[in-house]
Amino acid sequence: MNVIVKSSSLHGAGVIIDGFGTAAFVNHCCDPNCETDEIRRRIWIIALRDIEAGEELTYDYNLYDGEPGEDAACYCGVKGCRGTMFSEEEVARQKRILLRRKQKKARMKSHRR
Ligand SMILES: [Zn+2]
Repeated sequence: MNVIVKSSSLHGAGVIIDGFGTAAFVNHCCDPNCETDEIRRRIWIIALRDIEAGEELTYDYNLYDGEPGEDAACYCGVKGCRGTMFSEEEVARQKRILLRRKQKKARMKSHRR
């Protein structure tokens, strides 16, 4: 049996997603049993597989707007946990920014000599 939980709604063209309702308590997991989707201007939490009664609902937050070096640690404990709630793309983006900053700092330091 798949479960669909009606969640928060969108106001305007992708401007604000309300964080109220039961769905606001769904935790992140690197191996989630649900995913989010926008259907007719509403955010839905949709089961990815059968879910046992009493099993915690989770979805992958795939955070994408962090500051380079920011910690969004994940403690989900599943095998293969990324260790962060940031998406793999966000982790790569932040690494690139930190590397560029480091290279720029090194260049500025070498110009001062
Ligand atoms: Zn995890």
